[in-house]
Amino acid sequence: MFDVPEEDAYPFDIELISASVDAFRRQMDYVARHFRPITFATLLAHLDRSEPPPPRALIVTFDDGFADNYHEAFQVLRERGVPATIFVSTGFIDRQENFWYERVANAVLASRSGRGELPGGEALVLGPDIAARRPAVKRVLSALKQMPDDERRRQVARLVAQFDPAGRCDGDPRSGPLTWDHVREMSAAGIEFGSHSVDHPILSRVDDEGIRREFTESRARIEAVTGRAVQVVAYPVGGPDAFDGRVKAAAREAGYRLGISYVTGYENTATWDPFAIRRLHVERYTGEPLFRAMLAMPATFAG
Ligand SMILES: [Zn+2]
Repeated sequence: MFDVPEEDAYPFDIELISASVDAFRRQMDYVARHFRPITFATLLAHLDRSEPPPPRALIVTFDDGFADNYHEAFQVLRERGVPATIFVSTGFIDRQENFWYERVANAVLASRSGRGELPGGEALVLGPDIAARRPAVKRVLSALKQMPDDERRRQVARLVAQFDPAGRCDGDPRSGPLTWDHVREMSAAGIEFGSHSVDHPILSRVDDEGIRREFTESRARIEAVTGRAVQVVAYPVGGPDAFDGRVKAAAREAGYRLGISYVTGYENTATWDPFAIRRLHVERYTGEPLFRAMLAMPATFAG
């Protein structure tokens, strides 16, 4: 997501903002000048011909499918001829509903009750304003990411009711999902779409049947809209705890050819695990020198 608005007035998770539009423009200038940006489809086509990827190949990715990928990123990418891959969680696009973790963040930050109970029962008293409440967002989200997924869904509903946020979160364009029209238009212009599940659960906390559904339904939905094969899935959250051998096997069984994590690193296709592909992270505090250093010396930044 883009642009750091007035942080103290922004009622969603500030950590999900990865760059200002201006910084993103400079990053993509640099990528277009010094690298060979491709898509996963291009990469797989090379591998299918037993050819190595093009020299200096790089893939730009976005997770979740926030609407600003269309409103802000699309033009920057198009102007520079940089393709990118957007991993979307299809249920939120279908329902035009804000992502669950953004609903939770908003419930805490815009809370009218000023208090709630953590899933373990501990009382949480919130500070008076958004700045003071940000640490509580982190605590609540990290508790929710630890539990079995059906329990997580119940807790999200309970917490939103308890915190009783002012205003309507789902209509807020600052944190909303793409529409299928956006996806169709971007796909026709060369942006690649991959799966990021249906409901963005932590897949390692979901049972086998649930994982199968998350993988197959999201894939079918994107393929129906774009008319293109969906060969790649990015695991929601994607850290080492968010996916395991069971999740990787299910991704393969559902027909994916690659599985993308959020573990820090870069890949060599000769030695990689195609279902645990690592990425370099760009965050809102990643300045231009750090961005260039990461691309020049990725090994230094691998986790
Ligand atoms: Zn995500």
